[in-house]
Amino acid sequence: MKTATNYIGPDSILRKKQEYLIPCVYHFYKKPMQIVKGEMQYLYDHTGMQYLDFYGGVSVMNAGHCNKEIVEKICEQIRTLQHTTTIYLTQPIVDLAEKLAQIAPGTLKRSFFCASGSEANDGAALLAQLHNGKHRFIAVRQGLSGRTKLTMNLTGLPLWRTDPFPLSNIVHIPGAYCYRCAYGYTYPNCDIQCARYIEDVVKNGEFAAFIIETIQGNGGIITPPPEYFTVVRHILNKYQVLLIVDEVQTGFGRTGRMFAIEHWGVEPDIMTMAKAIANGTPIGAFITNDKIASSYTRPGASTTGGNPVSATAALATIEVIEKHNLVQRAKDLGDYFKQKLIGLQQKHKLIGEVRGKGLMLGVELVKENKIPATEELDNILEQLKERGILAGKTGESRNVLTFQPPLVITRDNIDLVIETLDNML
Ligand code: PMP
Repeated sequence: MKTATNYIGPDSILRKKQEYLIPCVYHFYKKPMQIVKGEMQYLYDHTGMQYLDFYGGVSVMNAGHCNKEIVEKICEQIRTLQHTTTIYLTQPIVDLAEKLAQIAPGTLKRSFFCASGSEANDGAALLAQLHNGKHRFIAVRQGLSGRTKLTMNLTGLPLWRTDPFPLSNIVHIPGAYCYRCAYGYTYPNCDIQCARYIEDVVKNGEFAAFIIETIQGNGGIITPPPEYFTVVRHILNKYQVLLIVDEVQTGFGRTGRMFAIEHWGVEPDIMTMAKAIANGTPIGAFITNDKIASSYTRPGASTTGGNPVSATAALATIEVIEKHNLVQRAKDLGDYFKQKLIGLQQKHKLIGEVRGKGLMLGVELVKENKIPATEELDNILEQLKERGILAGKTGESRNVLTFQPPLVITRDNIDLVIETLDNML
């Protein structure tokens, strides 16, 4: 490892960043550190300081940073065969597709591989249009789908909608944000109005699909109530509109199930994946059933999508998740962490709500009358960092303290985060 003296350090990185990167590439913290090393749930900066990483590169590092079992397999593959594209036959891509068919819900069986979550959602939306010949989409206001022209427009969160010439074929509806219900109702007396409203929108018959993250991550860990997806599925079936579920943040054990949609017991028509699928190696995918897949027959190619290295990384990641029971671990540790956070909520007025499933948890910080405590959250993130803990921020008002740690964390790690927060709030 390099020593502190031969790293260029945060100030030089900031200078180069300001000069050579497009300014949209933003970063956390007033005084950011240079991260130089990762080891399971820990990151290290150039001074050797250790950080307990409770954000996991935004829900990517489910199997831990530089997980040795995965890294070994990637290195072996990269030394043997790195890239060919799908115009030649290679084995990892088909082995991965077979594995995904085994672990995906219900009849989801056929995959297409690309390089990112944005591309996965973009491709899924195209597939829906090809399948039912309709051109419009419904998405939720709290959703984030990506950065391509289409997925940025599917995105509901204003912060991530930079497109100066928005598309007109997308309708955004309120998500199941019970803490701030757009209709002013209170769950469960609401009769899931937010889901039922979809019928008013899709009645005119022009909609290809409804796209939604099972738990809206960037939206502030918005977690729909148990009935939500059943109601949605029923309405969509009635009008032949497809359900595209985005598992980019929620997939691969994060929420205590392999895929979060399993909590709601509903089968989507198309499911999208990226982030944790290969524990940091770039790859995205969408998966669908035989019938819908048969609508996409014209040539489609993604140059690096599912190449031997990324497909091998994904296979190794899924193997580690299964071998070490990380899905169950996410559930058990997530339940423990959530109870502790609810304990903090009872003590500290700043905590308005604790929500999420497994190790995907959000703590909404508020002042009187639920006014978002945005600055307070920034201060907390900064102080946590000074004490060697990394967490995230999400929500339309950026006031939701967010935890998506590697699933390999321990109870002691959780206790430390709780104790540190308790002293800080
Ligand atoms: N879907 C969700 C739910 C996401 O959180 C993101 C990225 N944060 C994307 C899609 C886009 O993924 P990518 O950045 O890999 O293009």
